[in-house]
Amino acid sequence: MTKDEAARRLDDVRGRIAGAARTAGRKADDVALIAISKTQPAGAVAALIAAGQRLFGENRVQEAQDKWPALREAHPDIGLHLVGQLQSNKADAAVRLFDAIHSLDRPSLVTALARAMDATGRRPQLFIQVNIGAEPQKGGCAIAGLPALLADARGADLPVAGLMCVPPAGVEAAPYFALLGKLARDHGLPLLSMGMSDDYPTAVTLGATHVRVGSALFGARQQG
Ligand SMILES: *Cc1c(COP(=O)(O)O)cnc(C)c1O
Repeated sequence: MTKDEAARRLDDVRGRIAGAARTAGRKADDVALIAISKTQPAGAVAALIAAGQRLFGENRVQEAQDKWPALREAHPDIGLHLVGQLQSNKADAAVRLFDAIHSLDRPSLVTALARAMDATGRRPQLFIQVNIGAEPQKGGCAIAGLPALLADARGADLPVAGLMCVPPAGVEAAPYFALLGKLARDHGLPLLSMGMSDDYPTAVTLGATHVRVGSALFGARQQG
């Protein structure tokens, strides 16, 4: 991806976010655009950084460890979020590397993250991932399990600030976004991580504070 291409794509996505925010009577500044750079080569990431993007997301701890330390040394103002499933034995590494983790989804991870935060002294912002379409193959806690998991996390003094979801593919996402918004309100959580390349404007009209956009910024992925 050339610098011009990166700038054009970034402009387009920002414009759509601003348009959707306006429609909903929200401020575009209240929506964080996370550029999901999983599987993308360093050159494409560098092009987007040159175009002004500063917030990125990865879905694998190992890949992020390989890719980001050097880039962040060059650009200390970059923020990095984890948006993929997290194994408990990688909680320490994740807490060291990421500024936010969007995939808290089970009690064992509450324990692991609490330990990792104690050990590292870092407290990345957390989102509880909800399996909003009750799909067996997907990560996220069941809707019915959310109150208990949230109580667990709050009991462990974890910085839970919002909810995250990946709605079922191939159907209208709006009802799922609306439901996640209602769950967040009911539980007093201010942040909503929802919306990907196919549906981020819809997510913004329904209250997303964080949209996770990959292919609309980088072009199609080779894999993953
Ligand atoms: C890959 C990924 C995205 C971005 O997907 P696109 O459709 O390429 O925008 C967002 N969220 C999560 C959790 C992902 O794994």
